[in-house]
Amino acid sequence: MGAWHLPAVILISLGLTACAGSMHRLPLISQDEVIEANSEITAAPDLHTVRRTSGQNQAMVMRAAARLQKAAYALCNQVGHSPCRFEVVFDPSDEVNAYASGTDKIVIFEGLAKYLETEDEVAAVVAHEMGHHIAGHIDKTQVNASAGAIVSTILYTAVMVAATGGNVDPDAFNSGLNSSAQVGASLGQLSFSKEHEREADYIAAYMLARAGYDLDRARRLWVQLTKSSGNMQTDMFDTHPAGPDRLAAWDVAVAEVAASDDLLPEIK
Ligand SMILES: [Zn+2]
Repeated sequence: MGAWHLPAVILISLGLTACAGSMHRLPLISQDEVIEANSEITAAPDLHTVRRTSGQNQAMVMRAAARLQKAAYALCNQVGHSPCRFEVVFDPSDEVNAYASGTDKIVIFEGLAKYLETEDEVAAVVAHEMGHHIAGHIDKTQVNASAGAIVSTILYTAVMVAATGGNVDPDAFNSGLNSSAQVGASLGQLSFSKEHEREADYIAAYMLARAGYDLDRARRLWVQLTKSSGNMQTDMFDTHPAGPDRLAAWDVAVAEVAASDDLLPEIK
């Protein structure tokens, strides 16, 4: 590929990435609010498991899923997410995780549920995953990941060609190319996932209010997630990065929900 082709291709890739922002108008937070949230998280007690049977954990997840499903229709309709039906699965394994995948699937692991004190917190996890579906993040993340892979592959090719004057060992080139694309894919995925996390949280605040859950009790989830993100062995923070900004944004979102007449989030 001639070097003069590179800028055009990179521009196309960035165009793809630029489409993948949020569709909701997310609450603005100040640096002071983030600092305050961080001190609260630092001072909070460490995570501990709650004594419940596996059946009780499962019942909690399924009850929350049923209540939230009813609350979700108005939020789906608002952005044209259809069909608005979620398949929520309780996985009894010990992994500390939850995720959204495919068109409507949500998996909540018992390893996460057992750390949550109230159904309000469990509902916050389920609503957050529904939020990823409603805001179309699964498709956008795939677009981001492939855009990241394209940019990274182009840059790698340009660097290798420049470094070797074009005399590249094909095997070495291809193995470097694959790992370069993989790194690029995960970079593309991560570059927008913070915003996606904030958007899924924002949708969750409205959904919880609509389902009659207690937003202040649910708040503990963000304190505990952020607290444990540094010292817990789990993949959850690869897919759902947690920082004090999420707790600060949650508080602003809850105030917005309390002042809302129609309990519908703000769309861009
Ligand atoms: Zn998430």
